[in-house]
Amino acid sequence: MDDRAIYRGRAAVLADLTVRRLASAEVVSVLDEVCSERRWWLEQWAEGADFVPGLIAQDVQERMADEIGRTDPSGLWPVCLRCRSGPVHTLHIAPDLGGPDPVWVCEESGDVVAPLGALTPDA
Ligand SMILES: [Zn+2]
Repeated sequence: MDDRAIYRGRAAVLADLTVRRLASAEVVSVLDEVCSERRWWLEQWAEGADFVPGLIAQDVQERMADEIGRTDPSGLWPVCLRCRSGPVHTLHIAPDLGGPDPVWVCEESGDVVAPLGALTPDA
């Protein structure tokens, strides 16, 4: 099968974790777990390749919130840094299906912040 979508998704998510200084060993192992599950999923449905990078981002986001976020605010990823006021909130992937062309959207304002894999340290 064609693994490129998995590699592309892994690289994009790792870049967005790294730029927010969250690419700890614990988080990277969550990412690798998610990638191997999505690899299995893609084997069942090869047409799903366009959705895989965004789905990997969503899976990692959920799992970090479940496993880390309960006790540690760094489980919230990626936090929206664009809204200067109001409560802390996260970005989410649009479209909800994970692709094609996934972008991070602020859940409060609905603004597109960056393509997946292109978050910056301060936006
Ligand atoms: Zn926001």
